[in-house]
Amino acid sequence: MRLLITLLTGLFLLMLAAALASQLILNRAQHVAEQGKISLIESDRVAEAIKVKLLTEAASAQSLSEFSQSLLVGAVPADATAGNRVFLLLSKDGKIMGRVPTTVAADHSAIESVMGSGFVLDAEINDQKMTVTKLASGEDAYMALRDLTPFQGSLLTYQKAADVLTPWRGSVMQLSLLFGATMMVLVLLSTAFYWQASKASDADDMLTLATTRLDKALDGGQCGLWDWNLAEGHIFWSRSMFEILGLSPKGEFLSYGDVASRLHPEDSKLDVLIEDLLVGRRKTFDQEFRMRHDRGHWVWLRARAALEQGETENEPHLVGIVFDISLQKKLDKMNRDAEVRLKDAVENISEAFVLWDTESKLVLCNSKYQQFHSLPASVCQPGTTYSEVAAASKEPVVRQAVPAQVDDATGSRSMEVQLADGRWLQINERRTKDGGFVSVGTDITALKQQEERLMQSERNLMMTVRDLQKQRQLAEEQSQRLAELADKYASEKTRAEDANRSKSQFLANMSHELRTPLNAVIGFSEVMSQKLFGPLGSTKYDEYAADIGKSGQFLLDVINDILDMSKIEAGRVELEPSVVDLRAILDDVVSLLSPRAQAGKLELGLDFGEAPLFMADRRALKQVFINLVSNAVKFTPEGGSVTVKVRSHDEQVTVQIIDTGIGIPQRDIQKLGKPFEQVENQFTKSKGGSGLGLAISKSLVDLHGGSLRIQSQVGHGTMVTVVLPAKTMRMALSA
Ligand code: ADP
Repeated sequence: MRLLITLLTGLFLLMLAAALASQLILNRAQHVAEQGKISLIESDRVAEAIKVKLLTEAASAQSLSEFSQSLLVGAVPADATAGNRVFLLLSKDGKIMGRVPTTVAADHSAIESVMGSGFVLDAEINDQKMTVTKLASGEDAYMALRDLTPFQGSLLTYQKAADVLTPWRGSVMQLSLLFGATMMVLVLLSTAFYWQASKASDADDMLTLATTRLDKALDGGQCGLWDWNLAEGHIFWSRSMFEILGLSPKGEFLSYGDVASRLHPEDSKLDVLIEDLLVGRRKTFDQEFRMRHDRGHWVWLRARAALEQGETENEPHLVGIVFDISLQKKLDKMNRDAEVRLKDAVENISEAFVLWDTESKLVLCNSKYQQFHSLPASVCQPGTTYSEVAAASKEPVVRQAVPAQVDDATGSRSMEVQLADGRWLQINERRTKDGGFVSVGTDITALKQQEERLMQSERNLMMTVRDLQKQRQLAEEQSQRLAELADKYASEKTRAEDANRSKSQFLANMSHELRTPLNAVIGFSEVMSQKLFGPLGSTKYDEYAADIGKSGQFLLDVINDILDMSKIEAGRVELEPSVVDLRAILDDVVSLLSPRAQAGKLELGLDFGEAPLFMADRRALKQVFINLVSNAVKFTPEGGSVTVKVRSHDEQVTVQIIDTGIGIPQRDIQKLGKPFEQVENQFTKSKGGSGLGLAISKSLVDLHGGSLRIQSQVGHGTMVTVVLPAKTMRMALSA
């Protein structure tokens, strides 16, 4: 705008200058024409006057040359020389005869001295108009030439161009001055305007900047400005106010209806306040309310405003600021929720809890604290001072207290007290960071009871330890005694073993000694039975001789058994291993005992599966199986059967002697295998025996590294299983 105005002013000045210039040019031409006309008129007048004078005075004049100067002077009126107009009276041959004004004398010189060499007198005579010519001095001049016929001569009138334009120059000067003054005034005015406009524009810029900043500040501060013209009812909102509500700024002003349509229906008390403002019952306004955001949710706002009326304003304005307090409301709610939760938590803990602030005023306590100190509910309100609470509380009766532990560095204190009702409390007091303090009373009765129980069990434990120590001492003494007994036992055992050995030795010797006479008895009884040296005389003797032989043989068998057993017990039996064929051994045994089986009407069979050759004492094995098979035959009633079954696997040979005989009671099986153990029953009594057969067999099998086992059922039969290791053979072969 300011540039436009400045430009327009410049343009105006230019146009004015152009108009003035064209006017002056026009003026100049008019002036020149006007001066020319005057010169022509003056020239005509002077020429006429000269002619009249010449007519009237020519008779008396001697010659034109003599009076021409005076003639001219007399003919030129005084005002005709205005504007330095020069009149020259020329002779026919072009000599200057007279001159007016007379400042320069007419010296009768040729006209060329004035008009320049190119001037031709005759050619220039023109009655009608002025012509432009150049003077001898080089200056332009306007010239008119009049013929003075009938007189011979002419009148030349000229006026220098500079002199013609002198008045015009004066007006040029005047107009120039006027134009200059106008220009100056206009320049000054436009400069002043420009400066003023610049200042206004700067002010505008500053205002815009300030408004922008204010808007930004308001935006940042989540607040907006209100200006409510109460009389007219329109409201000005700052841009930030629109942004708070998610609206796009519409126009400068809003109506109260626009605003009211966005208010929360529950915030109707706002209307009352506004009414109060309108009727002047109140002048300020500070209210929280909700307005609907453009997206539909509610925005909490707090408006503070006051009634203002500016000096230039006719009506009052409610001017104020609005804060978006949605976040604050949210935080308030969170705080309230947190407080409720905290109170609930504190209320529900099992401890008595109290919190004091820096000024020793109650912040929070729970009902357990209230009960513990028997406080009325009215005292348990936040803000009650410590002294008021102390005055209202009934301190519990303390039966005993454990001295408090105080930590000066943290300002904490901890103590245990037992109340009159037997309960134990642990009270912990601690300074909070803000200078207040918190106290928590924990019921530690159960802990204390547990502690007591622990102490009791520790005491019991100590007593047990002492008992154990005593027991240990006793045990040590007993073990000492046992060691002594063991020593005694060992020496007794050695003695017994020695005695046993000597007994066996004795038995061996005895048997040997008995066998010799017994062989004689048996031999002689056989001789007698066979009557080798003639008849005995009486049949009774035959009978006796046969009995003597049988008894002798039985006795020899018994003695042989005793001898074998005692040899074994004395550890004097040494096996003589060789490669044995078990089948051959068992075939021998079966054929040896077959007659006895047949006599007893028994079935005796050999079920020989498979058996490898192995290393064993052939004689010993044969003795074992004769014993076992003869036992089976012996104790199986007529019609029964005896089977010898042989199997082998895993480098073991198993021989089973199975009979369908009388069987052995379970309790007696344990005893069998020990020397001289016989199972007593009617049947066995009739069979007789030394009771050493099984013991000898077992010992021999044991010596081979095998095992002997008896399984039997009374009335059904007996099975004796002999297991012999068979790997010896392979070792022998590989060796
Ligand atoms: P004996 O030489 O007296 O037979 P053994 O040691 O051979 O001594 O046997 C001891 C006892 O075991 C026998 O007297 C008998 O009572 C019992 N006995 C042994 N074998 C059998 C058997 N196959 N059936 C029943 N009883 C048996």
